[in-house]
Amino acid sequence: MQEVHILWTSEGMSCDGDTVSVTAATLPSIEDVLLGLVPGLPKVHLHNKVLAAEVGEEFMTAFNKAWHDELGPFIFVVEGSIPNEKINGEGYWTSMGNDPITGQPITVNQWIDRLAPKAWAVVAAGTCATYGGIHAMAGNPTGCMGLADYLGKDFRSAGGLPIVNVPGCPVQPDNFMETLTWLLYQVAGLAPMIPLDKELRPTWLFGKTVHEGCDRAGYYEQGDFALDYNSPKCQVKIGCWGPVVNCNVTKRGWMDGIGGCPNVGGICIGCTMPGFPDKFMPFMDQPPGATVSATLTGAYGTLIRKLRGITNKTVNKEPKWHHNRPELTSGYEPRQIF
Ligand code: SF4
Ligand code: SF4
Ligand code: SF4
Repeated sequence: MQEVHILWTSEGMSCDGDTVSVTAATLPSIEDVLLGLVPGLPKVHLHNKVLAAEVGEEFMTAFNKAWHDELGPFIFVVEGSIPNEKINGEGYWTSMGNDPITGQPITVNQWIDRLAPKAWAVVAAGTCATYGGIHAMAGNPTGCMGLADYLGKDFRSAGGLPIVNVPGCPVQPDNFMETLTWLLYQVAGLAPMIPLDKELRPTWLFGKTVHEGCDRAGYYEQGDFALDYNSPKCQVKIGCWGPVVNCNVTKRGWMDGIGGCPNVGGICIGCTMPGFPDKFMPFMDQPPGATVSATLTGAYGTLIRKLRGITNKTVNKEPKWHHNRPELTSGYEPRQIF
């Protein structure tokens, strides 16, 4: 397959934060993919309104061509949650372009209905698109949802793939680009089926918890906890959900290896998770279980810390045979020569 289009809509209930985030990717960068600098990838054409030079109907051309089967293979990226247009009253919640005949707005839901079944692969970028996210929290008026809620978890694209979910609010830049690169290799016949977990996330990206990769985990293990946000210690007592959240930013960092919430002082609020944000609120409170685990860890951690403190003092001292006296006390025993 020589050329692949990426049709990207962020016209759902979105803040465009995932598009902006992806511009920071380095593994690979979006520029390298578009310039053909990644060996083995097909030629890629990106159609994203934030990054496009075209506007209006000119921008919509590729979307219309894809709908009429005139574009060639494409990957459909959805950013933002999907409102429930069945409860829109007399209006509509979100739209993208106008119908040329009626002049009426075309809803994002109509575009998803038109394009998802024709796409070689469908990718949900960010937690709004994957699981509903912030717009879908309790009390919202739009009844919005994630893409798999809308299309069904059994949905299969024209390439035979389930929806591919890359959550995060916003999506971690390299997580998205690595997933996209896998799919582009798969389109080209150079990669096997992308491995996904039951929440449709790439397994190699979301298989571990924040806690398992956290720079502060040593403090947790030693029962040494931060009581305010200026401390370098473990933040579980001031609201970090890292032990139960699937996310790799503590290992991967945010931009080019730098950052990654708890590593740099931000508590994990579970932004990659299907239950975000409702199940993690109120933010800054101690997560359930934090008191118990912190108390237990505090008890054995205090003992471990004391023992380690003794060892630490020992290994911080030079051996006693390092001296300037006129004698050798290193224990050297000359070999006997017979
Ligand atoms: Fe914005 Fe976060 Fe939703 Fe992405 S997931 S559109 S960054 S609110
Ligand atoms: Fe775990 Fe959070 Fe503490 Fe890091 S700051 S060690 S992720 S609880
Ligand atoms: Fe979101 Fe927590 Fe990962 Fe930060 S560490 S990106 S808050 S899931």
